[in-house]
Amino acid sequence: MEIACLDLEGVLVPEIWIEFANKTGIEALKATTRDIPDYDVLMQQRLGLLKQHGLKIQDIQDVIATLSPLEGAAEFVDWLRERFQVIILSDTFYEFSQPLMRQLGFPTLFCHRLITDEAGNVVDYKLRQADPKRQSIRALQTIYYRTIAAGDSYNDTTMLAEADAGILFHAPQNVIDEFPQFPAVHTYDDLKKAFIKASNRELSL
Ligand SMILES: [Mg+2]
Repeated sequence: MEIACLDLEGVLVPEIWIEFANKTGIEALKATTRDIPDYDVLMQQRLGLLKQHGLKIQDIQDVIATLSPLEGAAEFVDWLRERFQVIILSDTFYEFSQPLMRQLGFPTLFCHRLITDEAGNVVDYKLRQADPKRQSIRALQTIYYRTIAAGDSYNDTTMLAEADAGILFHAPQNVIDEFPQFPAVHTYDDLKKAFIKASNRELSL
């Protein structure tokens, strides 16, 4: 049996923090791990900004509910789920991704959690585990699933390497150049073809 593992942000939905920053006009929320490499420092800054601007979990979800998946993403997920069991492996948070996952028909999602207090303030976050994408692939292998994974960025490359087949989708050129062992595609049509090619079954478009 085969399982398809997909990254979320950059593959099916836009970068959620960046879009949230655009919607709220809070420029400092646009910082990413490229600006602040220490993820905990970055997250503490984000949590501080949410508090400073009085944004509770419901406010955040209301803003994110105005976002849409990438053009063609929902149709692609439907296509994939007819041919594979699909799991989304993401570094986002359930509370953040909820409105976008609803638009994708709530496929299975492994990601992290935000911690809120009774008043709905976001007070902390909880990572599911270290190196979660790669560890998920390893776990699936222990129950004898063949895995095909697709992602767009550095935080996906250990997942792509661990999987039986890895595919870069929408990746920036520097990532494509650094990881030439993975086929790189840029449209959902080509991603479908890449999954068919990586499969050990006879599948058709
Ligand atoms: Mg991504």
